[in-house]
Amino acid sequence: MFEKILIANRGEIALRVLRACRELGIRTVAVHSVADTEAKYVKLADESVCIGPAASAQSYLNVPAIISAAEVTDAEAIHPGYGFLSENADFAERVEQSGFAFIGPRAETIRLMGDKVSAKDAMKAAGVPCVPGSDGALPDDPKEIVKIARAVGYPVIIKAAGGGGGRGMRVVHTEAALLNAVQTTRAEAQAAFGNPVVYMEKFLENPRHVEIQVLADEHGNAVYLGERDCSMQRRHQKVIEEAPAPGIDRKAIAKVGERCAEACRKIGYRGAGTFEFLYEKGEFFFIEMNTRVQVEHPVTELITGIDIVQAQIRIAANEKLWFGQKDIVFRGHAVECRINAEDPFKFTPCPGKITNWHTPGGPGIRVDSHVYNGYTIPQHYDSMIGKLIAYGDTREQAIRRMRIALSEMVVEGIKTNVPLHQELMLDARFIEGGTSIHYLEHKLADRNEVKKS
Ligand code: ADP
Repeated sequence: MFEKILIANRGEIALRVLRACRELGIRTVAVHSVADTEAKYVKLADESVCIGPAASAQSYLNVPAIISAAEVTDAEAIHPGYGFLSENADFAERVEQSGFAFIGPRAETIRLMGDKVSAKDAMKAAGVPCVPGSDGALPDDPKEIVKIARAVGYPVIIKAAGGGGGRGMRVVHTEAALLNAVQTTRAEAQAAFGNPVVYMEKFLENPRHVEIQVLADEHGNAVYLGERDCSMQRRHQKVIEEAPAPGIDRKAIAKVGERCAEACRKIGYRGAGTFEFLYEKGEFFFIEMNTRVQVEHPVTELITGIDIVQAQIRIAANEKLWFGQKDIVFRGHAVECRINAEDPFKFTPCPGKITNWHTPGGPGIRVDSHVYNGYTIPQHYDSMIGKLIAYGDTREQAIRRMRIALSEMVVEGIKTNVPLHQELMLDARFIEGGTSIHYLEHKLADRNEVKKS
């Protein structure tokens, strides 16, 4: 096992990784920007190194500074967390070339999955169900494009091979709009991602977002840890996640989960990963793979009892998976609310000083957050300040516990989206379960209409 790990991230995930390391008896190095000097995980880490000014480009994305920090502190491995450099194949390569272990998949796997066209090809070859669409990248010939769209059937969505974060996509409803849309998306993709390649998919009108968590080791073993439903989204950002996904047949989950585990074995995947699917009318359609730990990993941890971050570290240290698929027991239900420092109605970010912070507790409540009383949320980063996770024997109990936890939560000095979560935990359609990815946006639009009238 490693003796020392450098955590190349910030916020709640830096603290989460730190806790996993401490439990494994591994010493930690926190790297931080000038703006994060006072962060809790920086103080808790065995060592800390300031790697640059507040701007992420000069600190959390500053590869030479991070590698130097690992060198001067004699760290053996680097955990990238999520966001920042976590899915940057060049970074993974640099880490390994510099003699450190990268806690994640091999650089070539990240590269394969980072290009959505090659990722989809690999998944198709591995038998993972994909959204019907163009066979790879769209050709240049307009006549061919029109032909492909007719075969797929309208509406279609044009997506950038290099896209991410919900950018580089365009829905097309009619043939008249098709070629223009392809051209615009190409130009945008070139400007934003330096890659003009686009592809086409059938646009699913009312899907749910259901994703499969996997773990794979260096010895050819791979398992799936069930699914998460992350359909409650605003602007493609997840707001609430839960596991298991309500109302989906367990046999269907086992089938798609097994396909994902098999795909991992086929491509030689290493570490934790997530296969994202759109789920509509009883069918799963792969859209992309995330080659890192996800924000919403705790809901899976609670229903399986498996520590995903520790598993990432143990796999990076070349350990064999210490359990098989049959040993994984799914028990109960977990719901996660992402707590953001933002206006709960207008969604504008709300950084600043927290003058009073009190977190809930009691049976089945987990709080993953790096903030504390008197902490000042810097304005430079993501607005998520923590996650509130509730576990129960049943979904109903998990939701009830979440309502109580939200009512106990005290955050003063800044605005948060806690009131939105309180509203959603009482929402009849959410309580019923199985809402689509458009539900929250529609609900928020209705709320604005009511306010205006
Ligand atoms: P990104 O990497 O930018 O997150 P994804 O491929 O994961 O891109 O897609 C992001 C979101 O766009 C999905 O969660 C879904 O809401 C929507 N989307 C993508 N592909 C389709 C599709 N074929 N039909 C309907 N919606 C889609």
